Amino acid sequence: MSRKLASIQKIKAIKPIEGADRIEIVQVLNWDCVAQKGEYQVGDMVIYFEIDSLLPDIPAFTFLKGSSWSQKLNKYKISTHKFRGQISQGLVIPIHKLREIYNQINDTSFSSIDYDEGDDLTELLKIEKYEPPVSNGPLGEIINHEWYVPKTDEERIQVCAQDVLPEYMKSERGDWYASVKLDGTSCTVGLFEDAFLIGGRNQWYKDENMYTTTVKKYGDIEKHLRDYQKLTGKYIVFQGELCGPGIQSNRLGLKEKEWFIFNVWVSDTGKMDSYKKLDFLRFLNMCNDFGLPHVPIIPVGAKFDFKTTTNIDETVEMLLKYVDGIKYRTFFDDASPNQIAEGLVFRKNDMTYSFKVVSNKFLLKGGE
Ligand code: ATP
Ligand code: MN
Repeated sequence: MSRKLASIQKIKAIKPIEGADRIEIVQVLNWDCVAQKGEYQVGDMVIYFEIDSLLPDIPAFTFLKGSSWSQKLNKYKISTHKFRGQISQGLVIPIHKLREIYNQINDTSFSSIDYDEGDDLTELLKIEKYEPPVSNGPLGEIINHEWYVPKTDEERIQVCAQDVLPEYMKSERGDWYASVKLDGTSCTVGLFEDAFLIGGRNQWYKDENMYTTTVKKYGDIEKHLRDYQKLTGKYIVFQGELCGPGIQSNRLGLKEKEWFIFNVWVSDTGKMDSYKKLDFLRFLNMCNDFGLPHVPIIPVGAKFDFKTTTNIDETVEMLLKYVDGIKYRTFFDDASPNQIAEGLVFRKNDMTYSFKVVSNKFLLKGGE
């Protein structure tokens, strides 16, 4: 699932900023963006660029030079900002600019362009996604093999609130769980019909590298998986986050690299697209059986309360506040005491309605 980095959206609400008389908040989806007062009205169609968008160097964007130009990337980079104590995420541009922007980016001269609310403009406007540099050390030779399970990904609450939150609001506390989002790098390991493979986020690896060596710490997983397959007929794939020194900023304070599972897939055939995600209980059991650590789970007593309001926008705000209070130190003894976690991933126990809530404090300054 690739992100809709640029799209046509509607202004959902306009909110004042305390102590500011020239700017206000305009809400797009469940994102808050700071804009000049009076520039937009509720219901206006706009072009919206999400955080992590990289915008090309065209005249229509020169007003961003001061705030968002990246010399290194030679593009504009849309990030999380704070104005007058107010978080602003994403870039809102009046819809009447669409034609000019489209023409400048594509070197065309259309006189009008059709659009509808929700339209994805990411490809039309050639918007790329910023990817932070991840690993040190060489990764060696890769193995060309199809991905028989989906690559790991989680949708942000700011874009999917309307689809997922009603489900949590009508559920009981025990029907879902939240796990701590670890800021490492994705690592997939599993047995497939024709191979045992160890991979990163997008690639399978042949040589010794940080993925293959870290996974080996947990015993001979290949043998374990093959034995399990012979015994039960089931092909298993584990997906987890590789964390530790040399990966991101090692905010967990780990002494060496470790792997924390967040998905377990099972299949009767080991073929492409035949894998099903195990539910929460089976997931925990499987990690236990294979001696693999999993991502930390928020204890029952500390879980978010979805019953305090029936308003979706308010719930998003409360969730964002709630995750700012989650510290890595609660789960990792060597994390710095004030280090805020990157966020949480919420899922129903059957693994549906999954979404992530990333801490804005973390986005702003790494949560330190
Ligand atoms: P985006 O899609 O927002 O651009 P992204 O795809 O780069 O971001 P992240 O923002 O890091 O990814 O969020 C999804 C990733 O989070 C997953 O691919 C996984 O590697 C990682 N992750 C870390 N902790 C967890 C967890 N507890 N549950 C699920 N995924 C987790
Ligand atoms: Mn993603």
